Amino acid sequence: MHIAFIGLGNMGAPMATNLVKAGHQVVVFDLVEAAVKALEAEGASRAASALDAAEGAEVVVSMLPAGAHVRGLYLGRDDQPGLLDALSGRPLLIDASTISPEDARSVGAAAAERGFCYLDAPVSGGIGGAKAGTLTFIVGGDAEGYDQARPVLDVMGKNLFHAGPSGSGQVAKICNNMLLGILMSGTAEALALGVKNGMDPAVLSEIMKQSSGGNWALNVYNPWPGVMEGSAASRDYQGGFLTDLMAKDLGLAWELALGSKAAVPMGSEARNLFALHSAQGSGGLDFSSIQSLYRSVEDDQR
Ligand code: NAD
Repeated sequence: MHIAFIGLGNMGAPMATNLVKAGHQVVVFDLVEAAVKALEAEGASRAASALDAAEGAEVVVSMLPAGAHVRGLYLGRDDQPGLLDALSGRPLLIDASTISPEDARSVGAAAAERGFCYLDAPVSGGIGGAKAGTLTFIVGGDAEGYDQARPVLDVMGKNLFHAGPSGSGQVAKICNNMLLGILMSGTAEALALGVKNGMDPAVLSEIMKQSSGGNWALNVYNPWPGVMEGSAASRDYQGGFLTDLMAKDLGLAWELALGSKAAVPMGSEARNLFALHSAQGSGGLDFSSIQSLYRSVEDDQR
């Protein structure tokens, strides 16, 4: 299949690489030259713009930071037309970014008016899942589009869910990430309490993993440096899922809650913690670096 891939960051690069490896003809675009070069080395072709990448494609996949980037790509920005107005063909459009359900629905409606099928298809599973091709795709949009997308999503993911109509993928993803933000900050808090009281963080982690405190953040993404080999915490919180992106997702949860009069006190607390952490200069570190908010000089000397 001829597939255009827009956005080759921490997630997009390994996802596009898996499409290349599966034998698809992948044409890529990113604003960062080094990201494009890396994909070329994997066997993808480069395009000079998102429009050039998407022209002639059967499927367009986008993996961009936030709603403004997705709206810009599809609806246009600064007098530049978006893909919906500029493309001559009608490829299937799959946006895997995490954005607000409102943005997803408005792009989806504009796409439908012009004869395109647009799916919101945010993912869960992190960079590890993106590399291994084991992501979970949570898809919003019509069932026909979902069936059409399945062979492409199958290459990048292991679990595919059709969440419901347009925007539903984003609603489910935002609920999931709000819970993840709560679990990560709670895990960091529990580890810091134990260490302050003489526990070895690795021993405490093992105990909680086998007990009722076990959760994804603790079990596979331990935030304390050195406890888990290969974790972001064990490589100075470089790469991974950035604090700024978690703060964005918790902001999306907050907006969703406001709009639907839902109460999210735990999500609000997590949002404040990640916003504070970001404001202190950690926005570009992996989100598990929230651990450092709880650590003191004495902990570092232990
Ligand atoms: P990232 O910041 O690493 O990558 C985004 C890429 O998009 C960058 O390479 C950037 O140059 C590119 N970009 C921005 N604007 C562009 C444009 N107009 N045209 C072309 N390229 C453009 O982000 P990421 O970690 O890959 O995350 C992407 C999305 O996936 C986000 O919405 C994030 O919330 C979500 N997500 C991330 C993870 C994770 O673990 N990192 C997990 C699940 C979901």
